[in-house]
Amino acid sequence: MSSASRRSLQLTLAILKPNVVSHPHLVHQIKELIHQKEFLFIRSKRMHLPRARVEDFYREHEGRFFYNRLVSFMSSGPISTHILARENAIAEWRKLMGATKVFKTIHEDPNSIRGQFGLTDTRNSTHGSDSDETALKEMNFFFPEFDVEDWYRESERHFLTGDVYFDEEHDIHRYKLNHAKLKS
Ligand code: GDP
Repeated sequence: MSSASRRSLQLTLAILKPNVVSHPHLVHQIKELIHQKEFLFIRSKRMHLPRARVEDFYREHEGRFFYNRLVSFMSSGPISTHILARENAIAEWRKLMGATKVFKTIHEDPNSIRGQFGLTDTRNSTHGSDSDETALKEMNFFFPEFDVEDWYRESERHFLTGDVYFDEEHDIHRYKLNHAKLKS
């Protein structure tokens, strides 16, 4: 059995885009939805990317009609980036976000994040990785200091079995080690 198939929690990269981050009450509401769906916040970082970094991030879309708009928007203000963990995190986060095209999503999936908070196809509120491979690449892009293998080796089991709580100040979940249990 490969080590990947023994993993219970999947990691994904989530971004709250500038149209959300510029309104703290929207950040709050969207984070509530994320908590309700029982995602764990493993790492959180707020940043304002220069245009060149956004161009790198969205390189696969270079040449598409919306690329320039997308890059201008994503570098227009701060974003909030998160490594989220959950069983089936990639698909579950994309389900919670709703589909890319906001005007369709507002009608077809009104309770999704994009259905509720999306403004246009460009300013559609959130981003989520679409595969394990992309998640790895995107986590490394925003959190180069985060070692995925090390996290699975050292931390995953504590998030599954430990006493997990949310650290509001740092915007991440933590676990308390139960030494009595660990010894037995
Ligand atoms: P995602 O995985 O749902 O974010 O979708 P994509 O990876 O295909 O596109 C990346 C981002 O580009 C989307 O989240 C949108 O912000 C933007 N985008 C994608 N398709 C369109 C489009 O048809 N029109 C516009 N204006 N923006 C788009």
